[in-house]
Amino acid sequence: MQGSMMMRPLKIADILSYAAEIHPSGEVVSVRTEGDIHRQTYADTALRVAKLAHALKAQGMQTGDRIATLAWNGYRHLELYYAISGAGGVCHTINPRLSAEQMTYIVNHADDTMLFVDTTFVPLVDALRAQWPSGLKVVVMTDRAHMPDGDYLCYEELLEGQPESFDWPDFPEDTAAGLCYTSGTTGNPKGTLYTHRSTVLHAMMVGLSLPKALQPGRRILPVVPLFHVNAWGLPYAAPLTGASLIFPGGALDGESLFRLMDNEKVYSAWGVPTVWLGLQGEIQKQGRMPDGLGDMVVGGSAAPASMIKFFEEDDVNVCHAWGMTEMSPIGTQGNLPVHLEHHVLSERVAIKSKQGRRVFGVDLKIVDEDGNRLPHNGEAAGELYVRGNAITSGYFKNEEANKTAFDAEGWFGTGDVATIDSHGYLTITDRAKDLIKSGGEWISSLDLENTVMGHPKVANCAVIAVPHPKWDERPLMIVVPSADGKPEISELMDMLKEHFATWQLPDDVVFVDELPLTATGKVSKLTLRKQFGDHKLP
Ligand code: ADP
Repeated sequence: MQGSMMMRPLKIADILSYAAEIHPSGEVVSVRTEGDIHRQTYADTALRVAKLAHALKAQGMQTGDRIATLAWNGYRHLELYYAISGAGGVCHTINPRLSAEQMTYIVNHADDTMLFVDTTFVPLVDALRAQWPSGLKVVVMTDRAHMPDGDYLCYEELLEGQPESFDWPDFPEDTAAGLCYTSGTTGNPKGTLYTHRSTVLHAMMVGLSLPKALQPGRRILPVVPLFHVNAWGLPYAAPLTGASLIFPGGALDGESLFRLMDNEKVYSAWGVPTVWLGLQGEIQKQGRMPDGLGDMVVGGSAAPASMIKFFEEDDVNVCHAWGMTEMSPIGTQGNLPVHLEHHVLSERVAIKSKQGRRVFGVDLKIVDEDGNRLPHNGEAAGELYVRGNAITSGYFKNEEANKTAFDAEGWFGTGDVATIDSHGYLTITDRAKDLIKSGGEWISSLDLENTVMGHPKVANCAVIAVPHPKWDERPLMIVVPSADGKPEISELMDMLKEHFATWQLPDDVVFVDELPLTATGKVSKLTLRKQFGDHKLP
C-alpha cells in the first residue's frame, strides 16, 4: 500500500531559500581575485543568486545546459552553484590544475554552453578557446573595472538591473544539477552527474554526520576547492545548517591560510593533507594555533598519524574522512563517539588514523578477487565497493567505463583496498593500483608512508612499486627532508623495523626536494612511477 505523504521533490534552490530565511546573517567571506576581502550574508547571497538566475536565462540557458566554472573558492562561485542548478542548468566545475589536453577534453565532452572564469584563468582560456565549442560564451567573474580585453562578458554587469527574486521551478528530483570529472589518473577524465536529490540528501548526510562544525555561528574554511568534488558538500551543508563560509581564493600556502584563519576566527578547516602540512609549518613558525581553530576535516588522501597527533595535542579535533567524486563525495567520517572523545591521545590518534565510519546513506562492502564478501573483522582486506543515495549510477556519456565500474549486484567499485573492523571503522590500505606485489604478497604503500611521516626529519614521503626481476615489484621510498635536515636511511629503516617484517621494508630510499602533486593536491604516484620506474635497486 502506498503511503499518503506529500511528494515534494528535493531541490537545491530550497537550501539557499531556507538559509536566507532562517540563517540570514550567516556570512560568506571571500578573499577576492581583486585583492580585497568581500563579505555578504546568506540573505544577500540569495538576492544575488536570483539576479544571476535571471541573467543566465537572459543569456539563453536552457534546462539541462552545462554551464562551466573555472574558479577559486569565492562568493561568485557559490552563487553560480545555486543559480545554475536552481534555474534548471547543470553546474559543471572544472579543475584548473588539469592539463590543457584534459581540460579541452572535458569542455568538449560536457558540451558546455557558457563558461564562468576568475580573472586568474583568463590567459588559460585565451590559449585554449579555439579548441572549445565555437558558441561558448565566456563570462569573467569580476566587475567592469577589472575586465580583461577580449570577447568576454562581465559577471557584475550581467547582474545589474535584474530582479532580486526568482520563481524557482520544481522539477523531478532526479534532474541533473552538477557535473564533476575525476582527474583521470589513467585514460580520459570521467564525469559524475549529480542530481538535485543526491545533492540535497548529501548535504543532510554531511550536516548530520559532522555536527561539531556544521551549526549556526560556526565559521568554516573550505580549502577543499569548489572546482572539485563540490568542496565536500560544504556549499550546501553550510547554508543548510547556518554555518558561515570563509573562502580563501587562490592563496593556499601555509602563511596565507594561517593569517586568514586567525583574522576570521575560523573554527573548522577542511582540506587535503598536503595543505595541512603547509599550515603545520606556519604553526610551528608562529608557535601557536590560529585563533579560534577547534576542528578540522582531513581527507582526499590518508592523513598521517603524525599530523593527527600534531593538531589533537593542541585540542583541535581532527576528523579524518574518506570519499570520492563518484560519492558526492563523503563516504565515511572519523569523529569519535562521545565515549571515546576523552581517551588518551595515543588511542585517539590510532582510531583517527583509520578513515572513520560510514555516514548514513552509504553502504560498504569488501570483497575478494572473486567478488565474495569478506568479514568486517579488521583483518580481511579486499576491494571496497559502495552503494547509496548519493553515489553515481554511471559515468556521464561513458558506456565504456560503465561496463566495468559496477559489480553484478550494482555496487560501485572504488578501486580502494580496505579493511572494516567490527565497530565499522574503515581502513584504506591502498589504492588497488598503488599496492606493491612482492613475491605474491601485498605491501601497503600507505602504511609505510604513514610510519615514516612520524620522523621529525621527514616533511613528506611516498612509496611506489619498482619492477624487480625476482620479486616482481619491490618498494622504493621517496622522501622530502624537513627543515630539520636530512635523515639517515638507517634511521628510517630502524623506525620501520618496529612495525614491519623485513621483506616489507623499502629496498631503497631516495631524497627529493618536493613530490609531484595531482590536480587535486594529492601526491601523484603515476608521475613518480614514470620518474623512478628505472631506478636501480641496490
Ligand atoms: P581524483 O583525485 O582521482 O580526482 P577523488 O578526489 O574522488 O578523485 O579521489 C578519491 C580517492 O582518494 C579515493 O578512492 C581514495 O583512494 C582517495 N582517498 C580519499 N580520501 C582518503 C583518505 N582519507 N585516506 C586514503 N585515501 C583517500
